[in-house]
Amino acid sequence: MRVPKKLLAKIAKERIERLFQLAEENARTHPERSKRYVQLARRIAMKYRVRIQKQWKRRFCKKCGTFWVPGENFIVRLKPEPQPHVEYICLECGARYRIPYLREKLAQRDKQNEHDEETASKS
Ligand SMILES: [Zn+2]
Repeated sequence: MRVPKKLLAKIAKERIERLFQLAEENARTHPERSKRYVQLARRIAMKYRVRIQKQWKRRFCKKCGTFWVPGENFIVRLKPEPQPHVEYICLECGARYRIPYLREKLAQRDKQNEHDEETASKS
């Protein structure tokens, strides 16, 4: 008997949640371990095609997988040009991310970002 997809997704979400919690707990003391948790969580999200919760989405670097600790390994700043946006810079690998500041644009761009992530992860 096959496990219903809904149930699989639910389990996957719980595991992802737990992994991010672990990543957060270990971010300062064991950065390498925390990076591993982020990797695992992303892998599960991809495999079961579940979304990563908003609260975690902006907490790690999509390029190198480092879990971000406020004031330690990433920078957030507001930039007015060319459009108001928030810029995230990962201090581990130097990756930069732009998040539009305007709310309606944020929603649109979020969709685009998710699409980009999916295509990027397949290559
Ligand atoms: Zn990075």
